Amino acid sequence: MKGFAMLGVNKAGWIEKEKPVAGPIDAIVKPLAVSPCTSDIHTVFEGALGERHNMILGHEAVGEVVEVGSEVKDFKPGDKVVVPAVTPDWRSMEVQAGYPQHSNGMLAGWKFSNFKDGVFADYFHVNDADMNLALLPDEIPVQNAVMISDMMTTGFHGAELADIQLGSSVAVIGIGAVGLMSVAGARMRGAGRIIGVGTRPACVEAAKFYGATDIVNYKKGDIAEQILDMTNGKGVDRVIIAGGKGEVLAQAVKMVKPGGTVSNVNYHGSGDYLPIPRIEWGCGMAHKTIKGGLCPGGRLRMEMLIDLVRYNRVDLSKLVTHVYHGFEHIDEALMLMKDKPKDLIKPVVIVD
Ligand code: NAD
Ligand code: ZN
Repeated sequence: MKGFAMLGVNKAGWIEKEKPVAGPIDAIVKPLAVSPCTSDIHTVFEGALGERHNMILGHEAVGEVVEVGSEVKDFKPGDKVVVPAVTPDWRSMEVQAGYPQHSNGMLAGWKFSNFKDGVFADYFHVNDADMNLALLPDEIPVQNAVMISDMMTTGFHGAELADIQLGSSVAVIGIGAVGLMSVAGARMRGAGRIIGVGTRPACVEAAKFYGATDIVNYKKGDIAEQILDMTNGKGVDRVIIAGGKGEVLAQAVKMVKPGGTVSNVNYHGSGDYLPIPRIEWGCGMAHKTIKGGLCPGGRLRMEMLIDLVRYNRVDLSKLVTHVYHGFEHIDEALMLMKDKPKDLIKPVVIVD
């Protein structure tokens, strides 16, 4: 089979590989729609995970089941499914501890395009199919549904980690697809003022659509200063980080109120340390909480997010700005994600 792979740091291209084989509880799926993630860019072009050779990229997919193992009960060939970016090993101690994302090791629930071949292939392997796949209802178009796998679960997780209360003021740093879903999640959890930090016109427009009440341009000065100015020097209750380099963590700590929470879902792809400003962190005594997390995966999470889309709580169509038809366009879509033209939020490749 063919796949689009990381050949090494800074190198990506098409390769041939053996079709994967399903174990007794696994499934083999062929993609119907896929989307490249900014994380694929960190992985290939920043070498953020270290060297990976001939590893097929991609972890956002909607697909059709083509084969299931002998023990799989709830899925059969022909089923249309949403495949989460994170597919935990559900029989692991970390699951019992409440962190399936880290089943069998830190970040090890994230398998596609990290520890094993991803979804940019003619076929891909899904571990524990009954626990990791979710049926896709016919009324959700595949190009929107593929936003559930990662963008929606990650952005919403940003809002969950931030523990937003009714009326909380929230700043969302970075309003690419993930940050936009954080804006939507913050609104659904009852945030009051939602300040989106970003510049690209398509993203700014979408941020307003999803619930941003204010926009801050990070190219027009320090964002902590801008947000402190807008809030009479007080700052915001919650900050969600969904874009930018390491310094955004320092800015987030500066702009969050004492007692507030900084929630990071950004993938910090380079550097050995992230900065925490000592004074604004109250010399360690400000009760400012910093959390960071990998997106939840698995079947139940996908089913719950699918319901939010199916019952019109969230309109994912605003995230998808570029649609390609044909598997061979995956490399173009990935390069778009790297170059980030002004009118881009997310590209989707429909495999027809
Ligand atoms: P994106 O690149 O589309 O969006 C990030 C945006 O942040 C960009 O528009 C960029 O211009 C903007 N930005 C850059 N510097 C900034 C600054 N100083 N202040 C504010 N904004 C700034 O990426 P995305 O797809 O929305 O993903 C966001 C991040 O989340 C990426 O790092 C991605 O790798 C990561 N991610 C994490 C998970 C997870 O499980 N935690 C899952 C998916 C993606
Ligand atoms: Zn991703």
